[in-house]
Amino acid sequence: MKTSNEKLEAKPSVKKANLKTYKTLLLKKRDELLTATSAKKMPIEATESARKGDWIDQSSEDNDIYINMHLRQTDARVLKAIDGALHRIEAETYGICEMCSEAISPARLKAVPWAKVCVTCKEKKDQGK
Ligand SMILES: [Zn+2]
Repeated sequence: MKTSNEKLEAKPSVKKANLKTYKTLLLKKRDELLTATSAKKMPIEATESARKGDWIDQSSEDNDIYINMHLRQTDARVLKAIDGALHRIEAETYGICEMCSEAISPARLKAVPWAKVCVTCKEKKDQGK
């Protein structure tokens, strides 16, 4: 009959109140990306063709397509990462490094709320590639 609920917080990762903050950050970023993806009209396009003139139209078009595709890939990757982070918030595993199970530093989470690994592991991962 005692307050056994407290046992659940034996290994606190990110405090509940903070989770809300991160969730808000994630949802906001997600919104931003989705809006940017649907309403994108690159200003680069106009300047590019104005500078090069229409005699080189073909290759300038190819270039724009390439830029757009590259942007879209990055957006898609971040969106996927954000979705993953939102899942981890629901599962209460948010803020735990995927590789070493240590807590990810709040500074890192604020900068990259969808981070899956801590700074140390990220560096290891980057070097290992
Ligand atoms: Zn780690």
